[in-house]
Amino acid sequence: MTAGHRVSVASELFDFYIAELLRRAGLDAVAYTSNRLRFDDGRAVAEFPHAGGCGRCGNCKGARVDEQRRDGYTVVMVGDGYSDRCGAKAADHVVARGDLLEWCRGGGIAVQSFEGFAGLARWMHAASPNGGSPRSAPEC
Ligand SMILES: [Zn+2]
Repeated sequence: MTAGHRVSVASELFDFYIAELLRRAGLDAVAYTSNRLRFDDGRAVAEFPHAGGCGRCGNCKGARVDEQRRDGYTVVMVGDGYSDRCGAKAADHVVARGDLLEWCRGGGIAVQSFEGFAGLARWMHAASPNGGSPRSAPEC
């Protein structure tokens, strides 16, 4: 958490993959939720400890957004794909690219586009100096 922000990752991927991606990026300290894969007698067993929310997602990002909002945070949802839709519907602000961007535009969800994470980080820093909500479009 920096400057009153809480950053977390919600993923529909498995835990070992997300942990490795965060480690490689030097972001081991970032909290995340994901689906889980464990091995039992040589068999892979998928687990969905964060199921719930809409009842269709393995890790419903809408439910993750609701948790953050209950904790008093204004939530900026950043995403790009199908599994981000529940989060986009629940978030205070949506920043998207790819399929999610088009889906939001088609469904009347206010959305701002982004291209790369470096530009997104600059926008987040500039738009919310007091931990408040973003006020302008990202320049990514
Ligand atoms: Zn969902």
